[in-house]
Amino acid sequence: MLGFTLALAMAVTAVPVRKVLIIGIDGLRSDAFRLASTPNLDSLKRDGALTEHAVTDVVARSGPGWTSVLTGVWGWKHGVKDNGFGGYRAGEYPSFLERAAEARPGLVAGAVVNWKPIGVNLFGRHGFWIAPGDDGAVAEEAAALIGRGIPDILFVHFDGVDHAGHTFGFSPKIPFYLWAVEKIDGYVGDLTKAVRARTDEEWLILVTSDHGGHFRHHGDNVPTDRTVFLLANGPGCSRARPTGYRGVVDVAPTAFAFLGLPVDPRWQWDGRPLGYTAVPLPAGEAVAAALDK
Ligand SMILES: [Zn+2]
Repeated sequence: MLGFTLALAMAVTAVPVRKVLIIGIDGLRSDAFRLASTPNLDSLKRDGALTEHAVTDVVARSGPGWTSVLTGVWGWKHGVKDNGFGGYRAGEYPSFLERAAEARPGLVAGAVVNWKPIGVNLFGRHGFWIAPGDDGAVAEEAAALIGRGIPDILFVHFDGVDHAGHTFGFSPKIPFYLWAVEKIDGYVGDLTKAVRARTDEEWLILVTSDHGGHFRHHGDNVPTDRTVFLLANGPGCSRARPTGYRGVVDVAPTAFAFLGLPVDPRWQWDGRPLGYTAVPLPAGEAVAAALDK
């Protein structure tokens, strides 16, 4: 009886494991993100924090953009200027998943990507990555990994919207571009379902993009190319709609706040959490960090 009571008490008081899913929709302009018919994204928006005025890297291309998302710093620090990832200062500015694994040994981070260079360059040093082919396969593999309880932090990358933009134009006025967004929304639904089935875990879902575009092009320092969105949805998340300056570099600090991990100022992260409050560094470490800076 005592054993049963203890087991029951443990089951009741057990703290659910906190995990993070980052959904990256390549090449999605903020206005198309708002205007497309996306029931799954809409329900995440409704119950979460959202900005439709986030900026991506000054070089609005996938290499610099995804590196800013995953390292928490802007391009003048991480050094990636194009899709070749040449100049990436990985030692100084590793991915935030690497930082999380240092803070919490045993943490498993990985990526399922359509665009392989993200895996090679940002997950090569730490964690696993797979590139199973098209967006449908990406969604399927990612949902399977979540279902098996494997990753603690998972980055999922879809490429169909960027492809539609390069083919027909980056604009909410282009039906094919909007349709591509709506198709990804179906995959977002699959991933959300996989996450919700993990009832003994608490998941933060973050959704963002690496750049927008204009005509059939992107890469310029103009609002159409640089304005993206950031959506956070998870237990305890506020329904904030901040109107001030926000950026894709807010992804890393948001994940850290949700995981209860402090951000060390020596990492020089450029963003701040969306929908959550940052965890302060323990006093002793804060003094050491200040002296070290
Ligand atoms: Zn592109």
